[in-house]
Amino acid sequence: MDDLINELIKSATEALKKSYSPYSKFKVGAAILTKNNKIFTGANVENASYSLTICAERVAGVKAISSGESKFKYIAIATNRNEIAFPCGACLQFLIEFSQNLKVILVKTEKKYKIFDLKELLPKNFTL
Ligand SMILES: [Zn+2]
Repeated sequence: MDDLINELIKSATEALKKSYSPYSKFKVGAAILTKNNKIFTGANVENASYSLTICAERVAGVKAISSGESKFKYIAIATNRNEIAFPCGACLQFLIEFSQNLKVILVKTEKKYKIFDLKELLPKNFTL
């Protein structure tokens, strides 16, 4: 599993290079490991209207789900600031829809990261 986590962190770090963030300059990359050990990546995509901006976590999630992979084990999230960044509330809610037991890896550098349970970050969540 350590190898997969390292690969996931590398994938998130690589994905942030594809970020479209001309307004905030805050680049974020995310990589999701599915139950079938497939990796899907995403980067944040900003828009001049701001409110249409999509976070990296949801981009990766939508790619996975639309490819038929809707059970997630881990998500790694990296930024261009070499500091951990917590997912926004919208992304936490988006993610818990698909995996209540998801582990969230917040990447500072490829060697330094923190792992949280999704439920720890969103303890009172809305699910049906
Ligand atoms: Zn978000």
